Amino acid sequence: MFFSKLFVPILKNNPTEAKIKSHQLMLRTGMIKQSSAGIYSWLPFGFKVMKKIEQIVREEQNNIGAQEILMPTIQSSEIWMESGRYQDYGEEMLRIKDRQDREMLYGPTNEELVTDIFRSSVKSYKSLPQLLYHIQWKFRDELRPRFGIMRCREFYMKDAYSFDLSDEEAQYSYNKFFISYLKTFKRLELSAIPMAADTGPIGGNLSHEFIILADTGESKIYTDKRIFDVNSDNIRIDKNSLLNLRNEYEKFYAVTDEKYNKNEFEKNVNKENRLNTKGIEVGHIFYFGDKYSKSMNASVDHKGKKEFVKMGSYGIGVSRLVGAIIEAKYDDKNGVMRWPLSVSPYDCVIIVSISKNDTSNLEKSVKLFELLKKNNIEAIIDDTDENFSSKIKKFNLIGIPYQLILGKNSESDKIEFRDVGKESNNYSIEKILEILKSKK
Ligand code: ATP
Ligand code: MG
Repeated sequence: MFFSKLFVPILKNNPTEAKIKSHQLMLRTGMIKQSSAGIYSWLPFGFKVMKKIEQIVREEQNNIGAQEILMPTIQSSEIWMESGRYQDYGEEMLRIKDRQDREMLYGPTNEELVTDIFRSSVKSYKSLPQLLYHIQWKFRDELRPRFGIMRCREFYMKDAYSFDLSDEEAQYSYNKFFISYLKTFKRLELSAIPMAADTGPIGGNLSHEFIILADTGESKIYTDKRIFDVNSDNIRIDKNSLLNLRNEYEKFYAVTDEKYNKNEFEKNVNKENRLNTKGIEVGHIFYFGDKYSKSMNASVDHKGKKEFVKMGSYGIGVSRLVGAIIEAKYDDKNGVMRWPLSVSPYDCVIIVSISKNDTSNLEKSVKLFELLKKNNIEAIIDDTDENFSSKIKKFNLIGIPYQLILGKNSESDKIEFRDVGKESNNYSIEKILEILKSKK
């Protein structure tokens, strides 16, 4: 309940090694600590945010009928030899030998492992579709880890896999993930645009990357601006509605640089609608048919005939999203961050002016804290003895969206209330409760 008791190692100044604002802010506000190149520990504030993002991702996976499992981080090389990717994956894969000299690896992704789980237990087409996901650490030995947790070596990913009998059914599964991604990013207050993408080493020919616009993003994008106006609210999860939605998006040219073709861009998009900018990839979905099911012999019996299942895979960078939200929300010039309430480490902070021989303000803040708690509002009290204006500055950076301020002369029954980055107002506690409850 008291900020002075939390483990939040705040830095006075921007760390010089950090080049982009999310990396700076995460170090500055004690959310992460680097342990070695591209590998980070998550400290309480950072961890809380990531766990809240994870929970939103989870709920939207469950909403389309996907089932959660948990696969290990360490995998055996055998299944990767079966699929043919053991050599192909190259140096990004961290390879390990166990004491029996068996070749193991730290999973960069899980197509092989989930296919192995599927083939050993699903035998009939009647069990299809199956949509399975897990949220687990991945390791990729990136050539140039940088930008903090945006491109690191160990990162937290939600990856899902779909298994269907036919191409048409598999596209339906693909479209379910398509809508679940739009909903997930909307709940995080991000505007993520699905863009046609290359499938890379995963294989296949249908793929979308979900990109949020940001100057510091590593993806180059070429798009028709009108794609931002496609409305994805209130879409039903049936085959036709989902197909129509995808068609709505695909009407507009929107690609990442591997798919970019200058002539096509200029032919399809009027000059005034062309947008050529940078973005952050926060999710990526693939349809690759029987690429893995054939090589790994994952089939079902369909009325006496053996059919290789049609598969897709669907990733969200859960840890990268922490940084992506900062890139989207942090006002670097004024030093103001505002977390969406849905993922903020706390709902509000009570900032108290403390004087040595008068503890009445602190007592007042504890009462306020208890009242908020009763109303399911999670607060933290800044009881440190820093001066008042540096407390405000600190919390503008930390980004808890609502500040309740008990200043020196706060005698009256009104409390100063601020939506971070905006003007403050003096409200009664009833009014503040009403506002906070309406936002939850
Ligand atoms: P990128 O193009 O950024 O290297 P990718 O296409 O290799 O990513 P996918 O295999 O599609 O990545 O992984 C799914 C998601 O995991 C990505 O959309 C991204 O959000 C996240 N991700 C991938 N690599 C990293 C990384 N090195 N650090 C943090 N997040 C990552
Ligand atoms: Mg990708």
